[in-house]
Amino acid sequence: MSYEKEKEIAIEAVQRAAKLCQQVRQDIPQAMTKDDKSPVTVADYGSQAVICQALGEAFPHDSIVGEEDAAQLRQPSLCDTLSKITKYVSFVFTNTTPEKVTQWIDRGNGKVGPRYWTLDPIDGTKGFLRQDQYAIALALIEEGEVKVGILGCPALTLPIVANETGLIFVAVRGEGTTMMPLSGKGAYPIKVVSSNDGANFCFVESVEASHGDQSRQKAVAEAIGITAGSVRVDSQAKYGIVAAGQAALYLRLPSPKAPNYRENIWDHAAGSIVVEEAGGRVTDMHGKPLDFATGTKMVDNRGIVVSNGLIHDTVLAALQD
Ligand code: AMP
Ligand code: MG
Repeated sequence: MSYEKEKEIAIEAVQRAAKLCQQVRQDIPQAMTKDDKSPVTVADYGSQAVICQALGEAFPHDSIVGEEDAAQLRQPSLCDTLSKITKYVSFVFTNTTPEKVTQWIDRGNGKVGPRYWTLDPIDGTKGFLRQDQYAIALALIEEGEVKVGILGCPALTLPIVANETGLIFVAVRGEGTTMMPLSGKGAYPIKVVSSNDGANFCFVESVEASHGDQSRQKAVAEAIGITAGSVRVDSQAKYGIVAAGQAALYLRLPSPKAPNYRENIWDHAAGSIVVEEAGGRVTDMHGKPLDFATGTKMVDNRGIVVSNGLIHDTVLAALQD
């Protein structure tokens, strides 16, 4: 099956959301705190509103599983915040009202099913707030397999198009991965690094130490011969970096401080297909495929290993030691 319409609509939606996020970032956003203590900004909500509006119009029967929901925003105390979000969304859709914005955000309250989209409107909100990397991650899943992945990285620059900041990675199952400047100039098919290629034979991990196990990640990388230190990057931009051959490995091992943590589908769906279609491999730390069929949390997967494919089995073996 071809996913031309899905791809086209999703790219445009992510491009618009990226623009909104960059506008918010220029205005120095303030973070609010969600019930789970994680930060959220007006850009997280605005991005989800813009993307769910587009998907809802083009694919009214599709379910969308987004990270955010508008329940908090309907509280009278957050009336000013909702007005701010509406202001940013109205740069994309004129005549927007707060009611429409909350409805669009809540279109992302869908369920995991035979065909659904999953969205992280801002992945790496901590990076977004620190003026570091972040991503807008959107994926279409059918029967548990990611079919389309769009990863917008508004703050990312890579040597392939060194003069452009802001990249979007586009992958369709069976069709490869393409990288484009968010500005829309040019498209570059990308591949993972093919051998133990000197400078790019490095590994990436989170900036946030609590999102992994940095000492074990270092030990595993060294065990397979990666002696350069890690490159620390927020968000699924890490998947884009591996897909573009700028690192051979991305390790995300369970944090000893949060041994019961389970990964969210929206934190990996788009990134995983971007790497797989560029020739790489993505599994959990036991070599199991990531499970996008069960629910919002990948309850049967522990840790994430993303590689150029060639080194994958060696990494999994090192993890057993
Ligand atoms: P990163 O920017 O790669 O560090 O990942 C950001 C994502 O980490 C957020 O979207 C959170 O959903 C997720 N996260 C939060 N706590 C943890 C944890 N203990 N282990 C792994 N990921 C986490
Ligand atoms: Mg996230």
